[in-house]
Amino acid sequence: MFTGFYKKTRQERIDILKKVNKINEKEEQILLENKNLDVDIAGKMAENHLGTFSLPFSVVPSMIVNGIECTIPMVTEEPSVVAACSNASKIINKSGGFLANVLDRKMIGQVALYNIEDIKKAEEEIEKNYKKLIDIANDAHPSIVKRGGGVTNISQKILVEDETTFLVVYITVDVKEAMGANILNNMLEALKPVLENISNGKALMGILSNYATSSLVTAKCSINVDSLHKDIEEARNIAYKMELASKFAKADPYRAATHNKGIFNGVDAVVIATGNDWRAIEAACHTYATKDNRYKGLSTWKYDKKENKLLGEITLPLPVATVGGSIGLNETVKIAHNILGNPEAKKLSEIIASVGLAQNFAALKALVSVGIQQGHMKLHAKSLALIAGATNKEVDKVAEELHNSKHMNLETAKQILENIRNN
Ligand code: NDP
Repeated sequence: MFTGFYKKTRQERIDILKKVNKINEKEEQILLENKNLDVDIAGKMAENHLGTFSLPFSVVPSMIVNGIECTIPMVTEEPSVVAACSNASKIINKSGGFLANVLDRKMIGQVALYNIEDIKKAEEEIEKNYKKLIDIANDAHPSIVKRGGGVTNISQKILVEDETTFLVVYITVDVKEAMGANILNNMLEALKPVLENISNGKALMGILSNYATSSLVTAKCSINVDSLHKDIEEARNIAYKMELASKFAKADPYRAATHNKGIFNGVDAVVIATGNDWRAIEAACHTYATKDNRYKGLSTWKYDKKENKLLGEITLPLPVATVGGSIGLNETVKIAHNILGNPEAKKLSEIIASVGLAQNFAALKALVSVGIQQGHMKLHAKSLALIAGATNKEVDKVAEELHNSKHMNLETAKQILENIRNN
């Protein structure tokens, strides 16, 4: 069904997605007319607005996650990202795809207290009032409790920085299908005066933490090494070098930053397509990358010589939502959720972790074999052709000549376009 998807026209791709019930006729119309965020709604979402802003909306046709074939919506401006993820999925699907699971899905918030005279006593009082504090927080957002969520834990920690002592109170909240920032912030605001009273101190702030260590998701894959290259020796060499690349990204923060950027090429594209807060995901994951006291690559690849398998694994904090924020306001975001089959937040995070691992696989495989530029430059040539002013009909010809030219730059693209037009 999805064979040669990238060679099809836009209409043919939409027809295929309709045929497999991933989009309906109304959504087809929205896509064909390129309608997305209503300009008046946009004006209510952000201040001082002038209009809306568009980016390409694409799909990775087939990725198997926990035995289910998914089509993945992606929003990205970067050439090669969708192609690389599609290609990685094709290879990994042959070995059964990804196994992913959510370790937990809760959000953490904090109230920082200072100027406390008797910190030991304050701690004891907070401990004593554990149940009362939970009730106050839940009463500040009763609807989440009705939905089966609410505060599941309160803890505290003394932190000292530059001779200032803070008593930090943390709440952990089950936010169900939401990302939870507003839910937690309401709860934390309600806790501030009560905690000031109990601790006999001052509350500096009450705010959600984006370090979402209670929303961890793991995705794994086990790839038959023979599928990495048609030459078996080269396939083994690639598997071995991918393990080395994974070690390198743990050893050197200069490499780790780029290794992880590649992961977020995929993660962000799905997070944006599904209307989620990508700054929150980036903040969570980059902080998680420092959990061993040094910034490290977020994925691990191991070459199991005995079984002839390449084993990949990634764990990310992914507090993504299926309700709240701007989800539901943007027509294309709704289509993205439909294309995914409207998964619940936990399942959505499993898919996103798998996309991150697939994107990382594609980048590392290219880096340790043909290099990253080969695929990238083809699409870059197209972008340059467009910037040079090539029309839809001219763009492929300009890009092809540009790709074969000595200097792939805008000047050459303009020159090629002029030559084509003069002949
Ligand atoms: P919202 O307040 O927009 O949405 C959450 C609400 O959705 C819930 O309170 C609930 O309200 C409703 N809801 C409907 N169905 C469900 C369900 N099944 N499970 C849970 N809730 C449901 O968003 P969040 O509280 O999730 O906050 C996310 C937004 O906050 C994002 O836009 C984010 O960008 C922004 N933000 C992020 C910050 C950060 O990351 N540090 C800081 C501040 C804001 P009800 O029960 O009443 O219907």
